[in-house]
Amino acid sequence: MADQTAATPKPRKVPRVLILGGGTVGLYTARRLRKQLGRRDAAIVVVDPRPYMTYAPFLPEVAAGSIDPRHVVAPHRFALPGIDSLQGKVSRIEHATRRVEITPEEGDPYWVTYDHLVVGLGAVARTLPIPGLAEVGVGFKNVEEAIALRNHVLSRIDLAASTWDPDLRRRMLTFCFIGGGFAGIEALAELEDMARDAVANYDTIAPEDLNFVLVEASPRILPEVSAELGGYTLDQLRTRNIDIHLSTFLTSCVDRHVVLSDGTEFDAETIVWTAGVKANPVLADSDLPLDELGRVRCTTTLQVADADGHVVDGAWAAGDCAAVPDLENPGKFCPPNAQHALRESKVLGTNLAAHLRSAPLHEYRHKNVGTVASLGMHKGVAQMFGRFKVRGLLAWFLHRTYHLYAMPTLNRKFRIASGWTATLLFRREVVALGTLHDPRAEFRAAAVPPDKAQEEPTDAADPEIEATTDQAADEG
Ligand SMILES: Cc1cc2nc3c(=O)[nH]c(=O)nc-3n(C[C@H](O)[C@H](O)[C@H](O)COP(=O)(O)OP(=O)(O)OC[C@H]3O[C@@H](n4cnc5c(N)ncnc54)[C@H](O)[C@@H]3O)c2cc1C
Repeated sequence: MADQTAATPKPRKVPRVLILGGGTVGLYTARRLRKQLGRRDAAIVVVDPRPYMTYAPFLPEVAAGSIDPRHVVAPHRFALPGIDSLQGKVSRIEHATRRVEITPEEGDPYWVTYDHLVVGLGAVARTLPIPGLAEVGVGFKNVEEAIALRNHVLSRIDLAASTWDPDLRRRMLTFCFIGGGFAGIEALAELEDMARDAVANYDTIAPEDLNFVLVEASPRILPEVSAELGGYTLDQLRTRNIDIHLSTFLTSCVDRHVVLSDGTEFDAETIVWTAGVKANPVLADSDLPLDELGRVRCTTTLQVADADGHVVDGAWAAGDCAAVPDLENPGKFCPPNAQHALRESKVLGTNLAAHLRSAPLHEYRHKNVGTVASLGMHKGVAQMFGRFKVRGLLAWFLHRTYHLYAMPTLNRKFRIASGWTATLLFRREVVALGTLHDPRAEFRAAAVPPDKAQEEPTDAADPEIEATTDQAADEG
């Protein structure tokens, strides 16, 4: 009798690609891979604690109320058809055994194995051990912070309008931003513009009462554009009465009392930290090769490589957490921005698919197309192809057009564009939904007997600065 088992073809093992982080790199790599590989060619899994990708370049406009927060996020379940999503934090990476530990918000950590790993864990705020900063500062890296900051600024204006105490009023109306790079300048300029719009609705607050302060450690702002355009932006901000301290450090902000290295001191209810980013710290707890800045070392084909340039089998990386050699600037690495992250991901996806088919890989090479920044409604600066400098309304228009084009999914593009149209017709919303920071407060007060009410803890550790995305949804 014939041996039946010998005749049965062995089922082919489908390789599993595990993508860490569902941000720009995670989303675009997964989409490119799925476009090139069917379900029988590869299983693709994306891990992220958030169920959505955030398009960060639009966060300043979210904070200013020009874009609905829901519209700058692309939900994974909608934007990643045919791809599995796991919600949880990557807590350990063991590439030697090809497994990753995932810690979900609820429940015990668990391990997931893989054949190929894509690291797109992005960056976190790079902070310094400044007294008071951890207690009172807020970052500007994600949509939750953008919503919280918007609500915070608007509610401070409401509070200032309701007090007769001149010191308290000045403290409420003082907003301090640390860091004059792109994110910091856009956040400052957009929020100042919004605050100016908001105070037009108050009889007791004049625009001159607003006190926006920028602190920057280097002698200039916007290092991403030419010195001339940086200088122009500086002049623009100064004509808007923004108090700018260059070559200055924040030395302390205990209890929201700001002390600067140039001797200036003031009280500020709002302290925003936008002084740079560093690679995701979870990488330090991995066996992947890292450079001195904690980024995963890569080749120009987006494969992970050791310090001698030897490729680590089955590991790929891109974006803010990766040190990718910049072929347009030999000896340097690609800067951490969406322009590179998005394009690197597409090459990474194509290369990983090619690798699985034993086809040749491509090198990543990208010449910067330019930089665009919004400085508030109808104001902006742009530098295109390294040479062409644009200012004012045209730069603002370029900023919106470029980022609308880069925003993932047609659905989101349409929603953002229709929101802008509504804002042009009806002006933007400048209302603070302050009570959302502790939505159970009123119910708790009603439900708890009066003698126990004082002992009851609140939901939010710092109710003024905490917010969730659900709250964002309500805000819209
Ligand atoms: C306010 C702001 C404005 C910006 N403006 C511009 C601009 O105008 N132009 C430009 O080119 N760039 C801009 N950038 C930079 C740009 O957004 C980033 O360079 C880009 O998003 C990097 O992509 P990434 O995939 O590497 O990281 P991200 O897009 O940040 O994605 C990282 C993902 O990893 C997830 N993650 C984090 N930790 C874990 C963990 N432990 N486990 C699992 N997942 C985790 C995060 O939730 C996130 O989804 C801006 C950034 C900010 C913050």
